[in-house]
Amino acid sequence: MSSTNYKPEDSIRVNYPEAVQWRRALHKCPQPSWLEFFATAFVAEKLAGWGYDVKQGRDVIAQDKLLLLPDPVTLQAEYARALKAGASEKFLAPARGGFTGVIAVLKGDLPGPTMGFRFDIDSNEVTEAADKNHLPAREGFISQNPGYAHMCGHDIHTATGLLLARYFADNRKTLKGTVKFLFQPNEENLSGAAGMIEKGALDDLDYLAGGHIGLATKETGQICFNIHSFMALSRFEVTFTGRPTHAAVSPEQGKNAMLGACNAVTNLYAIARHSKGATRINVGILQAGSTWNVIAEKAYFRMETRGVTNELNDYMVEKAREVIEGAAKMYGLSVEMKPAAEAVVAENSPELIAVAERVAKKLPSVKQVVPSAAFNASEDVTLMLERVHQRGGKALFALFGTPTHGGHHNSTFDADETVIRNAAEFYVALQKELAG
Ligand SMILES: [Zn+2]
Ligand SMILES: [Zn+2]
Repeated sequence: MSSTNYKPEDSIRVNYPEAVQWRRALHKCPQPSWLEFFATAFVAEKLAGWGYDVKQGRDVIAQDKLLLLPDPVTLQAEYARALKAGASEKFLAPARGGFTGVIAVLKGDLPGPTMGFRFDIDSNEVTEAADKNHLPAREGFISQNPGYAHMCGHDIHTATGLLLARYFADNRKTLKGTVKFLFQPNEENLSGAAGMIEKGALDDLDYLAGGHIGLATKETGQICFNIHSFMALSRFEVTFTGRPTHAAVSPEQGKNAMLGACNAVTNLYAIARHSKGATRINVGILQAGSTWNVIAEKAYFRMETRGVTNELNDYMVEKAREVIEGAAKMYGLSVEMKPAAEAVVAENSPELIAVAERVAKKLPSVKQVVPSAAFNASEDVTLMLERVHQRGGKALFALFGTPTHGGHHNSTFDADETVIRNAAEFYVALQKELAG
């Protein structure tokens, strides 16, 4: 790819068929949050081979942000699975223990800005449809890992990132500025972005771009930059601890953690709604007690709040804390609220939206720039957008059009693979425009 009469714009088209194979290899070995060992090694090995300065492990993810880390047995089993699937041990080893994800930097030969590109790499905890109407089953690249599957398109995102990274490596001589790739683990449980932010990964960026396939752009050739209605989110693990006693002999001496938790849960749903906008609250898991005749010593639940603004979510968290601490006091319990995930409401930079729309309209693959779209969910890329804006940079999250065959997180989810090429071409055009 480095011959002198090589046309730079050809890199994406030439390498696209290989990018489809990368996508399919990733699709076959899906692993969820903090377990993305195969994808991590796959990406790191390629980027290192293309001349990128590659960082991994504790250099890319802060240890105190490994929230809801799977147990050591699962971590080891998934590590072994990645190795068995053919991952390079050299690039696997730094990720041991859940430190998945890759950051890779390439400096162009010409001066210019530093631009980051963020791609998420984790799978869902879903079993993939095996019927022949589903392309991965028909074409032989269905998930080999029972219970796990790429049903949100992060395999496509990862392949897009690699195709883009390959482009810049092939065109280093004409690259203005520096490109920095953030292959982020754990988007689905909304913790990976925070881990990279804490490591300072966003702090040298003039620009950041990222995106998602599908969502409000369900046709190939659509693209959207004016995205609104992200929801701020906070998740907590809540543990009440009381005192166990015999339920018949001495119930009065017990401190019942289950009662505290039940009381908290019903009252969490009774938090007064805010007049300034929509909020959400949910308790998705509740576990308590040990057996028939013992006053429950422990009760545990997982809860989340959301709000259409950061202030509204903060309000829900504050009220939830009052309810939980109040319930603990009522029953003489201790309680811990441990943060488990976080996302904020962040906006795309208006300047970047304008540049992106201008750039997109010139691309043959773009059939329609969708004027605006509601996200209506949470994404931890918002923490990255916020961080870049706070540091004086500009950030953009885009939606790339593709049919999704049953929708995100559904067992039949699939995409039109040409979105890999379309998205990579857009990112190249955007970088060129911004670098001048
Ligand atoms: Zn998802
Ligand atoms: Zn997703």
